[in-house]
Amino acid sequence: MRYYILFGPPGAGKGTHASAIVENYSLKHISTGELLRAEIAAGTELGRQAKALIADGQLVPDSVVEGMIKNAFDTIKDVDGFLLDGFPRTLGQARDLDAMLSERGEEVSAILSIMIPDSLIYERIHHRAEIEGRADDASDETIRHRIKTYHDQTEPLIEYYKAAGKYHEVQGDSPVTEENRKRVLALVESVW
Ligand code: ADP
Repeated sequence: MRYYILFGPPGAGKGTHASAIVENYSLKHISTGELLRAEIAAGTELGRQAKALIADGQLVPDSVVEGMIKNAFDTIKDVDGFLLDGFPRTLGQARDLDAMLSERGEEVSAILSIMIPDSLIYERIHHRAEIEGRADDASDETIRHRIKTYHDQTEPLIEYYKAAGKYHEVQGDSPVTEENRKRVLALVESVW
């Protein structure tokens, strides 16, 4: 199996580009953000606990998302691999993912990083708020908090994966979505 990680700040377009990638490759797209929103919508205990943290722009505990990822690895079989979107997001999650995969005799294949400057994040998230109506996209304060969380807790993963020789980056900053899509698909092709 192949294990690709789609990486980038909030609003970089991970979800949009993930859809384009899985149209072209036999990969199962797993978005921890989407899985958490489904738990909230279903009114589960897990969703109830995650809701306040997400609304505040904080991360949910590592154990929660790791349980979701492990469950996906255990149950999804007939694909060439996985496209992890929004996971891992902390060094702890990255190390646990490595351990989880090594138990299976597997490893992370590559990190596909979509970079945009902070100045674009607000613009992109405001635009998405009009289309998707996500609660955590609605307030500038939450967006500010998510950007801080990204810099503090998630950005260190760049060095972690560079050290492993698995980090690949494209700029997702073109105003033309199709141009960004081409860059991302070219990147996937180069690491496949
Ligand atoms: P975005 O693409 O805007 O970054 P996501 O849909 O990936 O948003 O995530 C939404 C929220 O769900 C995050 O702000 C965080 O609270 C929670 N979340 C998603 N993935 C993780 C993760 N791997 N670890 C902890 N919290 C997560």
